[in-house]
Amino acid sequence: MSETSPRLRAVLEGIPTYKPGKPAAAGGPASFKLSSNENPYPPLPGVMESALAAAGTLNRYPDMAATELMNELSERFAVPVSHLATGTGSVGVAQQLLQITAGPGDEVIYPWRSFEAYPIVVRISGAAAVEIPLTPEETHDFDAMADAITERTRLIFVCNPNNPTGTVAHRDELERFLDRVPGDVLVVLDEAYREFNRDLDVPDGIDLYRDRPNVCVLRTFSKAYGLAGLRIGFAIAHEPVATGLRKTAVPFGVSQLAQDAAVASLRSEDELLDRVASLVTERARVVEALRAQGWTVPETQANFVWLRLGERTTDFAEACARAGVVVRPFAGEGVRTTVAEVEANDLFLKAAEKFRQEL
Ligand code: PMP
Repeated sequence: MSETSPRLRAVLEGIPTYKPGKPAAAGGPASFKLSSNENPYPPLPGVMESALAAAGTLNRYPDMAATELMNELSERFAVPVSHLATGTGSVGVAQQLLQITAGPGDEVIYPWRSFEAYPIVVRISGAAAVEIPLTPEETHDFDAMADAITERTRLIFVCNPNNPTGTVAHRDELERFLDRVPGDVLVVLDEAYREFNRDLDVPDGIDLYRDRPNVCVLRTFSKAYGLAGLRIGFAIAHEPVATGLRKTAVPFGVSQLAQDAAVASLRSEDELLDRVASLVTERARVVEALRAQGWTVPETQANFVWLRLGERTTDFAEACARAGVVVRPFAGEGVRTTVAEVEANDLFLKAAEKFRQEL
């Protein structure tokens, strides 16, 4: 066998592999996975029926244009089909957005801490990652983000609500920021958790996109719609961007199961949004209880809560695991916990209270 191995792009060396949230321990004490911001509810029966019906066509390639879904989304959001593109989860679409905008020598700005996939997809593109720390209130520092724009900037991520803090960007600050971004820089409004927002001062990215050709909105079926396992997300953007996304799509990357389940979900939206409403109610209960225990909890508009624990992060995550809940630690920074079913949230609150008392 040859001693040499294929020469890979040097850029790969600095790129971590995406780390998924830990699964819940099998067979252990009641164990809940609160580490990936998933929806605790199983798909609605009608959604499962659609997916099962699509399973009967698995010998065929899916509809590459996702015609039915595109038409459904076009009507629902009042956007032309030519402004829509789907992908293998919104993270797949995010990777394509990098592919069509940035490469070696370019720069991409994003808030940090934010979604763990941003540094990965940026570095894969070969562009330089420009990370702008969150403010002390755990929100986007839009002044610093705008100040960081150079002639090399090609793309900027805004995560609204932000993962993992749950904090939001408000209309005034976001519009002021967009006004400062040159028209040839793409701003990606990642709204993976949009449906959980109840703050009326948070703009709908789709309203912002309409008269701004450099704004792209990213949405997903993974969270509020509960289809994380099917890998389907979409972007809304003006034509050159949406066309670029269609060019860079992995051919047939979005299965017919995913497309049909997404359509069925949109058609059962009322029921799904009722579930979202109950998670929002649980979120308020969890935040209130944590604050009553003495924790500082940033205002969250997503389906998770953020505790900045610093050096105690890993200990806290381990204490939660012993109590039967798997949370998401970011070593040295904090812990993100998904708001899920009452029983899981109760176990988490109990673990948090015990940890606090033992401090
Ligand atoms: N954006 C944000 C902010 C996220 O937190 C996630 C999932 N963790 C995604 C995008 C990707 O979701 P998906 O690829 O499942 O659509």
